[in-house]
Amino acid sequence: MITEIPTSDEFSSAAYAQFDFAWDIVISFMTALDEAGQYIEVGQDDEAQFWEAARQRILTSLIIAQQGVELAIKGKLVAFSPYLLLGSPSDWPKDKTGKGIEFSEFKTIDAQDLIKAYNMVSPKPFDTKFVDLFDRVRKVRNSAMHSVNAKLRISPKEVILIILEAHEHLFPDQSWVMARKEFLLSAPDVHVYFDNDHIDGALVRECLAVYNLLSKSERERFFNVAAAVRKYICPFCSYESAKLDGPVPNYAVLKPNKPTSTTLWCFVCNDTHLVSREHCSEAGCKGNVISDDYNRCCTCGEEQLPN
Ligand SMILES: [Zn+2]
Ligand SMILES: [Zn+2]
Repeated sequence: MITEIPTSDEFSSAAYAQFDFAWDIVISFMTALDEAGQYIEVGQDDEAQFWEAARQRILTSLIIAQQGVELAIKGKLVAFSPYLLLGSPSDWPKDKTGKGIEFSEFKTIDAQDLIKAYNMVSPKPFDTKFVDLFDRVRKVRNSAMHSVNAKLRISPKEVILIILEAHEHLFPDQSWVMARKEFLLSAPDVHVYFDNDHIDGALVRECLAVYNLLSKSERERFFNVAAAVRKYICPFCSYESAKLDGPVPNYAVLKPNKPTSTTLWCFVCNDTHLVSREHCSEAGCKGNVISDDYNRCCTCGEEQLPN
């Protein structure tokens, strides 16, 4: 008998934990560089040396992200049957006590067979783009794990894109930003702070850093922020970011994108904010999108004077 059989959900949360950890490593360097730039001028050489010093850690984050991808696929297989993960019976451990063997003692099928197994049992096979991504990441991961190659380089953006893309394929109904917020809310450090007041501001800082790193089409694909539409300051994110002396988050869009539209949508707080279409009271600002709740212009960010 096989005992302690894991569920699909358990694999999914383990996968999420790996994605979150990998993301956390890369983001911590990006925000450290961002924050340094607020106080001192970081030259190109300094920045290159910064990333050179972070090289091994970025590679480690890729290895962790790849583990997350494998766990997520295992979770999808377990949804069909957990026994799909068990390799050949000739490799199975012996039940010496007669009380059964725990599932975790079995060797599971090789990473390269995970996709094959899933595509065999699922009515909807994996997208070929995901299969390409999986193979590519597995190759880099193998060279990073099994040898020392001074030339092996992975940029922070590559790791970010791998996580966003893998997450999109593996958990198509879930928003990565929302999942990340959940993780920040359950991170160990919340237990040493008096409250969770800093979480929204921290999320703004990292999402803006990633937003600025991505191309227009990547922003549209992963964050639903259309390239061609005007961007406004999200009043909520701006308020939260200011608490931490953070950056101004101008990534919100009118929804629908019409001159008369009175709702502003933001991918980070995942909320719509009511706005009035009135002229900004700040001299020189041509903005006409004013947050109702915060009484601030969403173009220049200034508080509105009573008229
Ligand atoms: Zn927002
Ligand atoms: Zn204004």
